[in-house]
Amino acid sequence: ASFAESGLPAEVLNCCKTFSKPSPIQAHAWPFLLDGRDFIGIASTGSGKTLAFGVPALMHVLAKDNKKKFTKAVPRCLVLSPTRELAQQIADVLQDAGSACGITTVCVYGGTSKGPQISSLKTGVDIVIGTPGRLKDLIEMGVCNLKDVSFVVLDEADRMLDMGFEPEVRAILSKTASVRQMVMFSATWPLSVHQLAEEFMDPNPVKV
Ligand code: AMP
Repeated sequence: ASFAESGLPAEVLNCCKTFSKPSPIQAHAWPFLLDGRDFIGIASTGSGKTLAFGVPALMHVLAKDNKKKFTKAVPRCLVLSPTRELAQQIADVLQDAGSACGITTVCVYGGTSKGPQISSLKTGVDIVIGTPGRLKDLIEMGVCNLKDVSFVVLDEADRMLDMGFEPEVRAILSKTASVRQMVMFSATWPLSVHQLAEEFMDPNPVKV
């Protein structure tokens, strides 16, 4: 599979211009995700998984025609990550990829002041990347509204549950749009992750 065969618009593929071809997880994930399917990827860091969900996330925002309907962007995609470091890595990739197509992002995580994160949310963003604790706080403060989020990614789902974030993850998911596409990446497939998938995903997600 080549980037040209993916049929993706040039501004979206701009983020891949230094790569020769889609990584295996990208080649597997993109057709299903662009088709609106729920997707479970058993993959670890280094596989190119960020753009495996990132490119479809950009396409999701573009398809929603965010900017034409609203004077400012509203979050359409959410990426939950277990740690601040991982959230920042994802945000760096998505910010870079998004800037080529006019898509904005914010990264929210704990251990730092809320002010700048709140300002970005108030300005309006298309994609929210964050850790569960801080995101739940911001939702409860009324500064982050996820009702239009219809593309959700749980990255490193197993680690997120191991770290005890299950209540926050559930609370956050319940605030997103009821009709939504879900993507889950996990290095392992324990019962807790399986149950979360059964509860929040389509009955027949694609599993790779
Ligand atoms: P990730 O698994 O998303 O953390 O990505 C791991 C590394 O692979 C990052 O340095 C990416 O820039 C790189 N990468 C992502 N997609 C590709 C690709 N299609 N070909 C080669 N490298 C890639």
